[in-house]
Amino acid sequence: DYTPHTLEGQPVSNDLQPNKLAHKNVVSSVLHQQIKKDPPKIVSGKGNYLIDSNGDEKFDASGGAAVVSIGHGNTRVKDAVIKQMDQVSYCYLPFFTTEPAEKLAKELVDSTSGNMSKVFIVSSGTEANEAAIKLSRQYFAELPEPQMSRTRFIGRKQSYHGNTLGSLSIGYHQARRAIYEPILSQNTSQVSPCYPYRDQKEGESSEAYVKKLAQELEDEFQKWGPNTVCAFIAETMSGTSLGFVPPAPGYLKAMQEVCHRHGALFILDEVMVGMGRTGTMHAWEQEGVVPDLQTVAKGLGAGYIPIGALLVGQKVADTLFQGSGAFVHSQTYQGHPVACAAAYEVQQIIKEEGLLANATRMGDYLGKLLQERLGGHKNIGDIRGRGLAWGIEFVEDKASKKPFPSEKKISGLIHLAGLQAKEGISFIPGSGNADGKNGDVVLISPAYNMTRADVEIIVDRTEKVVREVLG
Ligand code: PMP
Repeated sequence: DYTPHTLEGQPVSNDLQPNKLAHKNVVSSVLHQQIKKDPPKIVSGKGNYLIDSNGDEKFDASGGAAVVSIGHGNTRVKDAVIKQMDQVSYCYLPFFTTEPAEKLAKELVDSTSGNMSKVFIVSSGTEANEAAIKLSRQYFAELPEPQMSRTRFIGRKQSYHGNTLGSLSIGYHQARRAIYEPILSQNTSQVSPCYPYRDQKEGESSEAYVKKLAQELEDEFQKWGPNTVCAFIAETMSGTSLGFVPPAPGYLKAMQEVCHRHGALFILDEVMVGMGRTGTMHAWEQEGVVPDLQTVAKGLGAGYIPIGALLVGQKVADTLFQGSGAFVHSQTYQGHPVACAAAYEVQQIIKEEGLLANATRMGDYLGKLLQERLGGHKNIGDIRGRGLAWGIEFVEDKASKKPFPSEKKISGLIHLAGLQAKEGISFIPGSGNADGKNGDVVLISPAYNMTRADVEIIVDRTEKVVREVLG
């Protein structure tokens, strides 16, 4: 029973296909999620807008998949790419190092105040997580007294870490796992995510809720037994599957404590919410924790180039140096010079233009306006976020928080209505739907160089589209 899915995993049925999106005589040869349809063909991008082949502009309110952090069409990044191509476009990193790779790696290490010490540069978030999984195992294999019995990974229900078999195995995006379940790793299990809106009981304090989640992780470690788990992995702030839910205060600290007590590594996936999206360069800076391994991607290259990275903490890096001295993992395009040059330039722009502070300021304004204009809507259960990462959760019944039936495809409808609108807007529709528990969410994650006027456009268009679909 395979149905096509939107970019972020929302099932899409044919009857949702608006005529306007069916460009005449165009049958896409690109194998993608909407294989039976002709999606809008984007021909250019400028600032916050994407322009399609009909000449219609769409406000890129989700920055693609929470990727675009400095807007479209930045000429500084283009110039950096050209300059690097004039020097050298490619060399094989396992044999050499390059200036752009060294500069970007140092930039990343420095951005963690030296908390992370080495960087493995890949081409996507999935690859970064795949590398994190493998390096975790290698770490235990290379300890002075190796712990080869550590083979397991613990992730969280309603999470997403990527689409390759390893990353899909540690995450739990039901829609994306379903048909692959039999070929996924059996050495993974998942505990509840931190999801106060649905899981924190009436009258339960935040401390008690966090304690309960930490106990669940403790029980999971106990279940598998001593020295069996390599690592626990979590998104610092849940993205696609929950819709930008910030962690409860002290949650990540409590999870890290359990993890370290059992000698396992603590991995934070910041593919979606890292590199400035939450207003600090790394989302963990706001949580009082430092991960053993961290993955980043989307905001690293801001969409100008495919790039991701695994940031390696001192403990793991030292073990590797004292052990074999090499990560048993290489990729043809690792540390690609042009990708590194582009990402380095993106990071300079973020610093020079003060975009972290702007992301916080504009994010606060966006959250406030969304609450004011949509918080009272009968079908909006929760609006939450941090920095420029905001999620709107839709419910059929506000009092009971009952989600809409998945067949109604509410977030898919809102997504398509946004694309169809004359004054178009692009959101990420999502639904983690573990056990059918949480409902439809729409994610808003625009560029960090927003102005107040841009925020107002986003909220105006969002309100219009929500009212069009839900009244
Ligand atoms: N981890 C998280 C938290 C993500 O949101 C995503 C992408 N949505 C990934 C990993 C996978 O990244 P990519 O699509 O770049 O492989």
